[in-house]
Amino acid sequence: MRLLLMGPPGAGKGTQSAALAARFDIPAIATGDIFRAQVAAQTPLGITAQGYMDRGEYVADEVTNAMVAVRLAEPDCADGFLLDGYPRTVEQVAELDTMLATADSTLDSVVVLTVDTDELVGRLLRRAEIEGRADDTEPVIRRRQEVYAEQTAPLVELYDARSLVREVDGTGTVEEIGARIDEVLSRPVV
Ligand code: AMP
Repeated sequence: MRLLLMGPPGAGKGTQSAALAARFDIPAIATGDIFRAQVAAQTPLGITAQGYMDRGEYVADEVTNAMVAVRLAEPDCADGFLLDGYPRTVEQVAELDTMLATADSTLDSVVVLTVDTDELVGRLLRRAEIEGRADDTEPVIRRRQEVYAEQTAPLVELYDARSLVREVDGTGTVEEIGARIDEVLSRPVV
């Protein structure tokens, strides 16, 4: 199973991805988590990424694509993976297409979590109090929503044209949302 999990910041991708990856026995790969680990370790990649992340902007495509290519080439991805937070730009879609074609594989589904913007901002402000993430301040939260709307929301249409998209209501309990995801993945896209 090769899956993408999409949705705006605060939609609950991280929460759902662990459970989903466990159900399909595939690795969950979250580019945001990899960047945060690199920032924490102050690696050259982390130092490059940090400024973008602190402003709520996307890290440059070439940097992100190279990082994902390395991760997807690892043996645990051979039989499937769940990508959380990648691709986020049209250029990243093209690069992922190339990576998949090189490995002679294709995507099975793109799950898109939908939640309205006011609810997202509220959730992220609550997360800021609990986790203290550097990019969860209100101006950066709002910028991240804008960047998603400008650069990533158009990807839904792009994948929809390939009949891969399954939209899932991202409101409710973690279990309710998980059950909705299971349900859409158990039936063919129409
Ligand atoms: P996330 O944890 O998915 O909300 O990502 C946190 C931050 O990491 C984003 O605001 C970006 O700065 C950066 N990031 C994560 N994934 C990507 C990506 N696919 N392309 C560019 N930047 C990314």
